Amino acid sequence: MSSDSVRSWSAALFCLGLFVATCMSPDRADGAERSLRGELKRVLVLHSFGREFRPWSEYARDIKSGLERQSPWPLDIQEHALLTARFNNPGPEAPFVEYLHSLYQGALPDIVLTIGAPAARFAQKYRARLFPDAPLILSAVEYRLIDRANLTDNDVVVAIRNDFVAAFDNILQVLPDTKAVAIVIGASPLEKFWIEELKRELKPLEERLELIWYSDLSFEEILKRAARLPPHTVLFWGLMSVDAAGIVHESDIALRSLHAVANAPIFSYQDPFFGGSTVGGPMHSVAETSSRTISVALRVLGGEKPASISYEPLGFAAPRYDWRELQRWGISESRLPDGSEILFREPNIWERYRWQMLMISAVFLVQAGLISGLLQERRRRRLAEVESRQRLAELAHVNRYSAIGELTTSMAHELNQPLGSILTNAETAELMLKATPPDIDEIRQILADIRRDDHRASEVIRRLRSVLKKTPFEVRHIELNDTVREAIGLVSAVADGRRIALTYMPAFADLHVKGDPVQLQQVVLNLVINAMDAVSDAGMKKREITVSTMRAENQAEIRISDTGPGIASADLGNVFNPFFTTKPQGMGMGLAIVKTIIEAHHGTIAAENQPWGGALFTIRLPLIR
Ligand code: ADP
Repeated sequence: MSSDSVRSWSAALFCLGLFVATCMSPDRADGAERSLRGELKRVLVLHSFGREFRPWSEYARDIKSGLERQSPWPLDIQEHALLTARFNNPGPEAPFVEYLHSLYQGALPDIVLTIGAPAARFAQKYRARLFPDAPLILSAVEYRLIDRANLTDNDVVVAIRNDFVAAFDNILQVLPDTKAVAIVIGASPLEKFWIEELKRELKPLEERLELIWYSDLSFEEILKRAARLPPHTVLFWGLMSVDAAGIVHESDIALRSLHAVANAPIFSYQDPFFGGSTVGGPMHSVAETSSRTISVALRVLGGEKPASISYEPLGFAAPRYDWRELQRWGISESRLPDGSEILFREPNIWERYRWQMLMISAVFLVQAGLISGLLQERRRRRLAEVESRQRLAELAHVNRYSAIGELTTSMAHELNQPLGSILTNAETAELMLKATPPDIDEIRQILADIRRDDHRASEVIRRLRSVLKKTPFEVRHIELNDTVREAIGLVSAVADGRRIALTYMPAFADLHVKGDPVQLQQVVLNLVINAMDAVSDAGMKKREITVSTMRAENQAEIRISDTGPGIASADLGNVFNPFFTTKPQGMGMGLAIVKTIIEAHHGTIAAENQPWGGALFTIRLPLIR
């Protein structure tokens, strides 16, 4: 490149630098920035007591977030709090005014927005010095607190209207027995203003209600009194920004601590205090006031003349109630005015644990179904058991007939013997009576013999009848030695007749069991008859049967052994089966019935062969403890 061309390039660059520097002078840079970001709008928000004071903090929060959301322009929202309103005897405001003056001199906000009465009063008082041409929006301020004389064409008021009579009517509506209302209110100038207003407005209610004023008490003292209120007294939460002791109460901590100790319900007319501490009723709605303020602010920022915008003060919104407080103070929903809304309703257990409850109910239903099924099954089994016992009783009865049938011949013989003796003795007595003088002593002896023989005969008949009786299966407390002895008595004569030695060896001690005596006798009878059959077998030299009873641990034992041929080892497992018999005329039911009877008595029976020959049947029955 030539030196000429280098020179001409340097000149061009210098001119460009000069142009850029001219464009970036402060004024022009500002203009460029604004056009880049669109029209930035400055909003100055002035709080009354501080940024966290209820109810105003709630209005401010709502308005700010609504503006940020809805504004078509970028916003620079700057906030200041009027701390002087915190003091019951406000100090000089001049330094704060000077501070704001220095901040906004030459950079005026596009609008000034005040929240609450102290901020409104301050802005009206100092606007000429601080922001002479900026439009002023006075929001969340009670209409009585606006300095109307000093309103200008550049102001818009978004006012609210406190209706204390409506708030107190609500108390009497939901709690008609109310006799006194304790009014909780602080001692700042604003609060003092409201005490006077309340007194004036509530005058008509004075005859019906006693009004107790807590305005000259420290909050600590208020808490103490609220915990010991007499019945039919309620608390009315006015404002508590600064108490009589000069202590500042930010946010709703004060209200919550009052709620924690109070023994009476708390009422308030401010939405920001609703939801946890107060019962409810007609209240100011933060949402309503905020949305009106936002729309006014956007219209003014958009260039509309403030003088052209005007509204009536906003009254209370439709009454709302806290369900939890209604429950706590026993306020019936039927007492609430028409159109009321109930909030914070706690879901009942069904709504809260819907799925869990459905599952539990399902489990319960299934369980109930199972239980009823099982009960039904149990009933069915019971019926079946009763029926099978009845069958058993009937079968046993038939079996007894057949057993006794086998014994008939011997029994007839047994009956014949005493009857024959009676006849012989009677004839002898007749003859002796004919003698003179008759031998009275001898006749008395003969009559005694007749009576003894008659006893023997009737004993045979009694036993026979008792064993042939058709009785239902009937369990009772019995002594086993006696029951077995009775059964042996039935067959002993038969054994005698067949020349069989039947021995009974009862246990020394009583054996108490639960059972049906007739059926247990039948067991012994069947086993002894079988044993008699066995020992009667051809070729059996020794014809002995031994029946014994004993105690074996917690059981009663009956053993029936014989000197017969025993049971073939292949048959040992079958002898208790129905219709198993090795006898030409046998039915094979005797042992089956025996086993069924013993099992119905919760006992066991076993058959075995003795080492020295012959069968042994062992029965075990549970003893009564
Ligand atoms: P049944 O006497 O009509 O045959 P049971 O049921 O009373 O019917 O007996 C079944 C079978 O058991 C008998 O046929 C017999 O073979 C056998 N049995 C029963 N008791 C004895 C015993 N004491 N000795 C040998 N065998 C016996």
